[in-house]
Amino acid sequence: MLTRKIKLWDINAHITCRLCSGYLIDATTVTECLHTFCRSCLVKYLEENNTCPTCRIVIHQSHPLQYIGHDRTMQDIVYKLVPGLQEAEMRKQREFYHKLGMEVPGDIKGEACSAKQHLDPRNGETKADEGSNKETAEEKQEEDNDYHRSDEQVSICLECNSSKLRGLKRKWIRCSAQATVLHLKKFIAKKLNLSSFNELDILCNEEILGKDHTLKFVVVTRWRFKKAPLLLHYRPKMDLL
Ligand SMILES: [Zn+2]
Ligand SMILES: [Zn+2]
Repeated sequence: MLTRKIKLWDINAHITCRLCSGYLIDATTVTECLHTFCRSCLVKYLEENNTCPTCRIVIHQSHPLQYIGHDRTMQDIVYKLVPGLQEAEMRKQREFYHKLGMEVPGDIKGEACSAKQHLDPRNGETKADEGSNKETAEEKQEEDNDYHRSDEQVSICLECNSSKLRGLKRKWIRCSAQATVLHLKKFIAKKLNLSSFNELDILCNEEILGKDHTLKFVVVTRWRFKKAPLLLHYRPKMDLL
């Protein structure tokens, strides 16, 4: 037992993300220098920078997000080395789907949506998670499904761009590409305790999105970074401002 702890401690530096100090989630590597970070951490960082956070090389002058890639091998290693990490991550994702009232996709065991509640390498415990859902038999079933990453998944960052509304505690989410803008509005309204989802507009590249558009449609028509999570903003409807 002790031996195992020491070993994990020794390799921690290689399996943690320099940006959040958590274990790597959705490990993503800079093509040029091969430094690895959580995808959400790296993408967020590259919104403001174009250099590698570790070695500072310029990844690309204008489109750094196109020169980073998912590192499945590294993620598999992290999950194998850190007991409970993958389960904790999958549980968070399932809870997310339940809160949104959506069906839990079969591939949820595969990739991680990187919310910030990583296992903390400093104490080896899961950081506070609001309400731990009891797993139903059905969820257990989902867990037994394979690792396939379905194309019908989309990672999203939901940012608030109005001082009239709060930001979300967990703004990085992952859900079915078939979900609509209306689903997101309902999700945000619930999180922020708004009386109606109708009070919100959701924007992509400064354009208001129609509530019936699927996220797949938004990604295809509005989003230029095909590999990066979809960045959406929300704010109160114009006539409420
Ligand atoms: Zn990170
Ligand atoms: Zn680097």
